[in-house]
Amino acid sequence: MEQLQNLKTLLAETADLSHAAAVLEWDQETHMPAGGAGARGHQLATLRRLAHERFTAPEVGDLLDRLAGAFDDRPEEDPDRALVRVTQRDRARATLLPSEWVSAFAEATSAAREAWKAARAADDFAAFAPHLRRIVELNIEKADRLRPLVAEERGTGYAPAKADARYDALLDEFEPGASTASVTAAFDELRAGLVPLVEEVAARPAPDDSFLHRDFPEDAQWTLGLEVARAFGYDMNRGRQDRSAHPFSTSFAISDVRITTRLDPHFFSPAFFGTLHETGHALYEQGIAESLDRTPLADGASLGMHESQSRLWENLVGRSLSFWEHWMPRAQEALPALSGVDAGAMYRAVNVVRPSLIRVEADELTYHLHVLLRFEIERRLLSGALDVADVPDAWNESMRSYLGIVPPSNADGCLQDIHWSLGAIGYFPTYTLGTLMSVQLFDAARRDTPALDDALAAGDYAPLLAWLRERIHRHGRSLTTPDLLRRATGQDLDAGPWLEYARGKYA
Ligand code: ZN
Repeated sequence: MEQLQNLKTLLAETADLSHAAAVLEWDQETHMPAGGAGARGHQLATLRRLAHERFTAPEVGDLLDRLAGAFDDRPEEDPDRALVRVTQRDRARATLLPSEWVSAFAEATSAAREAWKAARAADDFAAFAPHLRRIVELNIEKADRLRPLVAEERGTGYAPAKADARYDALLDEFEPGASTASVTAAFDELRAGLVPLVEEVAARPAPDDSFLHRDFPEDAQWTLGLEVARAFGYDMNRGRQDRSAHPFSTSFAISDVRITTRLDPHFFSPAFFGTLHETGHALYEQGIAESLDRTPLADGASLGMHESQSRLWENLVGRSLSFWEHWMPRAQEALPALSGVDAGAMYRAVNVVRPSLIRVEADELTYHLHVLLRFEIERRLLSGALDVADVPDAWNESMRSYLGIVPPSNADGCLQDIHWSLGAIGYFPTYTLGTLMSVQLFDAARRDTPALDDALAAGDYAPLLAWLRERIHRHGRSLTTPDLLRRATGQDLDAGPWLEYARGKYA
């Protein structure tokens, strides 16, 4: 069909512009000298604006109008039907944001990324505050432009409190279908189960994990992490790893999916589990059907679904006893400082539950409290109830009340995450939603694949990856997260399986 082909051509050009911008962003995080920041901001603003203008051009709208309903006799996941549906959804949002907003956002976030790196290194919140203020303003403008559409789609009108209507509008971009109310309900259920569990664990003597803080040469850490990544199925012919201040994964094409990590020569966990985590993201992107490349469908279904993949590989595989029984000899060979540590001791050490300052290094139980804290601060920033200048105090107060500890510095407190500098507000809850889904998916994979545990114990990850490829990865955005989850597990999003897993492992 000619109209469909024309639409695909226009969308492919938009995708090329966005991916070129993503390459520049990746470079900014990995290799660019600090002095390049100003020029990079202009380059990104131009590319993002061109991509936005091309995507919101009237010809795309005309083609979508003519194709509306054309494939409705096909199944939901049919690539053509899904392409029209997803493009309509994205475009309805994009047309509500003027080009000026898009380039202003790109400039502001490019500057904020550099400011955040410097502010974090110098523990200087005041230096980052004006950037965060600008980002909050731009997000409020975006939320106010989008929320009538989101409210209309959900039939909620303007009933929710103004702040939550804004939060709903931003969350909807990252996690279509989720709402502030549904996230709050999930957190309530989690907290009710978590608080007694954390108390129970805290009452026991903590296992020894001091050996995770020995001297580990950086290149050996690098090699070991990538070896596990390859074993999981990360295709290095279509990927690579670099260093960055905050680990992330990014995709420029299904044939080029990158990850980054950070190395601490005196702490085993950040690089190793960071690499496993980002590999989980990269496996998802590498597993999307080739035929979806250069279309809006060539992406994860949502950030929550993305996070379900990273958390599954990092925690359900990488923090299991059978994983360490298999990998411990190899880890000791690469890192002699671990000699004398047996698999059981390693398993207990990498699963120590202890209130800690840094979210990405938190144990599985207290992790959700770190997310909850950010969710609450963001809601208050969007409603105007919290001023940017008061973020450090609000952060420290929540740390005290949820975890009983207060960061000694803002670098280890409200400056630790990259997300706000990227302009992302409304993103953090997807971490908890993804973690809940990871257990639902892993349970389903084990039900469907009787020999799965034996394969994992033998270091054979192919059956697990094959199940994920078939049920989740290949579909890209052709199915929504609630649909994918229901088809793969027979369930809707539910905190119950995660709580059961947590009790089984830690109680
Ligand atoms: Zn992640």
